[in-house]
Amino acid sequence: MTRMTPLGPDEPASHPYRLAARRSTAGDSAIDVGGRRIGGGDFALIAGPCAIETRDETIAIARVVRDAGATMLRGGAYKPRTSPYAFQGLGQAGLQILADARSETGLPVVTEVMDVRDVEAVAAVADMIQIGARNMQNYALLTEVGRARVPVLIKRGLSSTIDELLMAAEYVLKEGNAGVVLCERGIRTFETAYRFTLDLAAVAVLKTLTHLPVIVDPSHAAGRRDLVEPLALAAAAVGADGIIVEVHPDPDAAVCDGPQALRCDDFARFAARVQHVAAAAGERFAATAPA
Ligand code: PEP
Ligand code: MN
Repeated sequence: MTRMTPLGPDEPASHPYRLAARRSTAGDSAIDVGGRRIGGGDFALIAGPCAIETRDETIAIARVVRDAGATMLRGGAYKPRTSPYAFQGLGQAGLQILADARSETGLPVVTEVMDVRDVEAVAAVADMIQIGARNMQNYALLTEVGRARVPVLIKRGLSSTIDELLMAAEYVLKEGNAGVVLCERGIRTFETAYRFTLDLAAVAVLKTLTHLPVIVDPSHAAGRRDLVEPLALAAAAVGADGIIVEVHPDPDAAVCDGPQALRCDDFARFAARVQHVAAAAGERFAATAPA
């Protein structure tokens, strides 16, 4: 976990993100998530469905991504949906499915929490708690996950600046939770040819500003399957500490985000290509698949 060192003599105590700032620790922080490291030279490949749909399907996806070298399983039990009538996730039942998928595959799990009232239940199951883009400035939620003893993945808000992302991290760090991972997932611009504009410059800039690991979500940025691989490779090349992608056995039947989901059948090839570029960027790709 992150080692916090005191501020240097030239460091104003009023620095708005003094714990997240690069100069507040000696080097890059590596975060331990259920036995897998993210950061400090360890590249995370996090994959899974957008939403947890059924137990059998989730375990099948987990096996596919584990066998291809993924280091963690993702999947939403609580889903932030633009329409209140859209599928909202399986909730507690989804958390139980994630726990089962972990026992079946050995993969640590990351899942989103949207409500302070669910933090305890999510933290009891998750190896890493996700704060979604729409909640990046939900300060009560950030404070609550800061009190949890589980690492936190903070996704950049749809229209948030790099400074605001670092300030969100600071809310979690300030509560004593040193396990913070940042995620660039695309921002709103004038462009409409894809879902969001993946800001890869932000990754390079964040690496100069903070010691925290920075990962990239090409799936939500692209919104289109055909763009996920080129953006993932670019993320690995620009120095990201990992990527998080959506995978589904039958994207046309997915309850959520099907058009951007990689097909299970294509995942091993995708993972091998990401591994290749991550290695070229000097990253270890911790493919620790237990027998
Ligand atoms: C997700 O990861 O499932 C998700 C909803 O992402 P974001 O918060 O980045 O939109
Ligand atoms: Mn999704």
